[in-house]
Amino acid sequence: MDFSKSKKLYQKGLTNLVGSVNSPVRAFASVGGNPLFIKRAKGSKIEDVDGNDYVDLVLSYGPMILGHRHKKVEKAVKKALKNGYSFGASTNDEIKLAKIVCDAFPGMDKVRFVNSGTEAVLSGIRLARAFTGRDKIIKFSGCYHGHQDALLVAAGSGLATLSLPGSKGVPEGAVKNTLIANYNDLDSVKAHFEAHDDIAGVILEPVAGNMGVVTPQNNFLKELKEFVNAQGALLIVDEVMTGFRSTFGGAQELFDVEADITCLGKVIGGGFPVGAYGARNEIMEMVAPLGGMYQAGTLSGNPIAMAAGIATLTTLKKQNPFEKFDEIAKIIEVFLLESAKKYGVDLTVNRFGSMINPFFTKEKVTNFELAQTSDTSKFAAFFWEMIKGGVFLPPSQFEAWFLSSAITENDLKRISKAIDNAMKVVANM
Ligand SMILES: *Cc1c(COP(=O)(O)O)cnc(C)c1O
Repeated sequence: MDFSKSKKLYQKGLTNLVGSVNSPVRAFASVGGNPLFIKRAKGSKIEDVDGNDYVDLVLSYGPMILGHRHKKVEKAVKKALKNGYSFGASTNDEIKLAKIVCDAFPGMDKVRFVNSGTEAVLSGIRLARAFTGRDKIIKFSGCYHGHQDALLVAAGSGLATLSLPGSKGVPEGAVKNTLIANYNDLDSVKAHFEAHDDIAGVILEPVAGNMGVVTPQNNFLKELKEFVNAQGALLIVDEVMTGFRSTFGGAQELFDVEADITCLGKVIGGGFPVGAYGARNEIMEMVAPLGGMYQAGTLSGNPIAMAAGIATLTTLKKQNPFEKFDEIAKIIEVFLLESAKKYGVDLTVNRFGSMINPFFTKEKVTNFELAQTSDTSKFAAFFWEMIKGGVFLPPSQFEAWFLSSAITENDLKRISKAIDNAMKVVANM
């Protein structure tokens, strides 16, 4: 397989880009070798600059749930382009997307659009503090909520991959109000509430996807919500990854838990930069111009991004691919487990809806500590064999693989064959 053009571009990019990438996980730090440079993508496939094509299980880390360049989305974007790119004033499409989103989340009366998941979460945290008048926030080890200072501790994939304990440049003061708890461990949350009386809220991924896929166990979300509200604090559910991925709406719906504040991103922009946070009226009325919590954005509610979001979500609702996602993820799980058994490789597979990933460990993975028992050198070898087999995976043991509704029977055959070969290579390491 020829990667020479990717290699050349990577070298060229090093001069004016940091590590030749604009987001660290793209740098292939944990799998070695040069990152692939992409030329184009269509449907379930992505093609690099050397002309190699892959079944895409990265899907831009989640947003491309319909596959690439879905014709309904492309048509809506082209139409919007003709009317102008940005106005600094409201448009009807913002109202339309807001209604689609609020209708899909029972706990959301109002929503505010921003430009990224990071912005959605940092605003959601500010809102919890504004509403409760308290300062402290609890987050879970291994959950990632974007790169804002206050939450850049114990933050999962990107940092785990680079083995960084946190981040340089984050002042102690910025994290002094952040408390860390263990996923799936309500007692670790209770202990913080016993020690502190000024906790504004608890934030989590309802299904974690940034330490690999880790699902909530034994009513964890429900018990957490009840406990947190009884303390006068808010539950902030970060659905930037899970929103519209496993049902039309949030993972919170599937677990029968209503967030006080919900954060969104990824799928709702259909590949364009959109984030959002929302809550019931009483909470959202804290936000300017209705209330005293300031939050703003020059490009927020951008008309092109809104058009892409509306087209993506209306198409997704019509397709209703969620049962199919579950079936396909199950098929991939079986491929993984059977070939691991065949070649004698220790493997655990976690999945939820259209998110799935294998951990190279024999432990059952229910939190970040257990995720870290994975053999990342095995994952690195597996990753490159999958590339050679024509399947593009996130270049980290701790990132979820994503499914799109564009995936075909032939794609599954290719995935199956690639997995069998990759597992054989891992077994012989
Ligand atoms: C991707 C992600 C974010 C950050 O979103 P960006 O658009 O990358 O800023 C926040 N929270 C979760 C759960 C995510 O998966």
